Amino acid sequence: MKAMVMARISDLRREKTPLRLRDVPKPAPGAGEILLKVLACGVCHTELDEIEGRTPPPRLPVIPGHQVVGRVEEAGAQTRRFKAGERAGVAWIFSACGKCAFCRTGRENLCPDFRGTGRDADGGYAEYMTVAEDFAYPIPDVFSDVEAAPLLCAGAIGYRSLRLAGLEDGQSLGLTGFGASGHLVLLIVKHRYPNARVYVFARAEEERGFARELGAAWAGKTEEDSPEKLNSIIDTTPVWKPVVEALKNLASGGRLVINAIRKEEADKDYLLKLDYPAHLWMEKEMKSVANVTRADVAEFLDLAAEIPIKPEVEIYSLEEANRALLEIKERKIRGAKVLRPG
Ligand SMILES: [Zn+2]
Ligand SMILES: [Zn+2]
Repeated sequence: MKAMVMARISDLRREKTPLRLRDVPKPAPGAGEILLKVLACGVCHTELDEIEGRTPPPRLPVIPGHQVVGRVEEAGAQTRRFKAGERAGVAWIFSACGKCAFCRTGRENLCPDFRGTGRDADGGYAEYMTVAEDFAYPIPDVFSDVEAAPLLCAGAIGYRSLRLAGLEDGQSLGLTGFGASGHLVLLIVKHRYPNARVYVFARAEEERGFARELGAAWAGKTEEDSPEKLNSIIDTTPVWKPVVEALKNLASGGRLVINAIRKEEADKDYLLKLDYPAHLWMEKEMKSVANVTRADVAEFLDLAAEIPIKPEVEIYSLEEANRALLEIKERKIRGAKVLRPG
């Protein structure tokens, strides 16, 4: 089968084709696993963190991709949830131990043995992949393949971030960074919290314009003062400046949720601008969001189907994965990017 394979860590300032198209053996489903023919796979910033070595795969080569919509081609022995021909989705959580204190209390996202799809196991930048059926999700009929793919990471982690932000209707929410996840959070808020006001901070004018189109009350640059102080802010950027600037815009008692698996080192000295009275005093809080649970993904898919939330997608062929990744690096983003093999 064809796959876009990551064989090494790359410096994307010099290396523009970090993934290589390879012909690799088609996987076979083991007991409890399903074999999926990949119909669509979302492209996530986390792939850049893997490729650039901030969260490196433990073994190389690996096939990236963790927002996978596929059709079940074969259900392995001892499967009961999926049958051949059905659509199934795979998210970032590829497996967790099921036994530790975190797994037993609904926090499998924090499991020390958490394995990420497309990092710790082969993912969906390929024609086929296998996954344990217990870590796969039925895809609601209301979504096309490419619409469903970004819901599995950008949407699910956005949903978890929003829950951790503790937003209530009538309050104000900031989004700093406006990529695949941010635009889905904005769509959720418009439906779930119709009286909430959403303020978007983004570096590129195209992103700010897109945010206004989707119903943001205001969109400005990262360092601007928002028109009002904000009850909570979700940061989806890979850098530090937006963290400091977001804290400035938080209301007393407000919370900043950092939705990023890693931060880059390049602008870390921006943290020296941190001013205790302006940025942290008055009981401001900061919290990261790590991974997702299966419950996050399943709940969000239900909610997204009920509303329904349809992501804005840009479609690429499997072979165009490198271009899609470089565009994310360069913030050439409008909604979510999705690969469609075959
Ligand atoms: Zn992701
Ligand atoms: Zn565990």
